[in-house]
Amino acid sequence: MKENRTETNRRGLLLCVSGPSGTGKGTVIRRILASNPKMVHSISVTTRPPRQGEQNGVDYHFRSRGEFLSMLDHGDILEHDLYCDHYYGTPKSNIDALLAAGTDVLLDITIPGSLSVMNSYPEAVTIFLMPPSFGELRRRLAGRGTEDPEAMRQRLEKAREEISKAELFTYCIINDDIAAAADKIMAIAQAEHCRYERQKGLEKNILAR
Ligand code: ADP
Ligand code: 5GP
Repeated sequence: MKENRTETNRRGLLLCVSGPSGTGKGTVIRRILASNPKMVHSISVTTRPPRQGEQNGVDYHFRSRGEFLSMLDHGDILEHDLYCDHYYGTPKSNIDALLAAGTDVLLDITIPGSLSVMNSYPEAVTIFLMPPSFGELRRRLAGRGTEDPEAMRQRLEKAREEISKAELFTYCIINDDIAAAADKIMAIAQAEHCRYERQKGLEKNILAR
């Protein structure tokens, strides 16, 4: 195999995916992971109770409020947010090590979460996943069947405010087709890796060979 140090030495991308509840973030991320074994999804910590079928350590690390606040106190959380009365946070754990090893890391986080990551990781890539319409968002959330009517109302109310924040993101993808949205995120990742800024110093390696 040809030696390609510039590729193998590359740092991973921190890809933040945000968008209203029900827009399809989890579905699109699962699609990406299924066909890209080198991408990882950072499993968040939450105080929200598990939904039917959700597994601790797979979908989320489910923790009590006390446990979450203690993790915060100990500096174990990279960013966090209070969303619809529950805490959600990205564990620091091994994110820096993964990025240093060249692994692309996907975060499925709230809009304030993405803005907070941008502060601590200015090189992070922010992607807003938009529903095709508000009516379709309502149908998807209802179709998922995971929230009671009051929780759904809260999430949809929040969605109006969230959609108005799309302009704060670098990329915006309308999720009208799962495979197409996943491909677009992969295309963004590929283009971001090609930014000169992310490959600074490659000339030295090229000229030395
Ligand atoms: P989020 O993670 O953003 O809250 P989910 O991934 O749970 O959203 O998706 C919400 C619902 O919408 C799920 O039932 C999912 O199967 C469905 N869904 C996601 N993307 C699409 C799409 N492009 N077209 C139709 N249904 C979709
Ligand atoms: P859900 O309850 O539907 O799984 O998630 C609710 C919201 O929390 C979604 O917008 C999701 O992106 C967000 N979320 C999940 N994990 C995190 C996290 O670690 N940090 C932040 N800030 N938001 C998260």
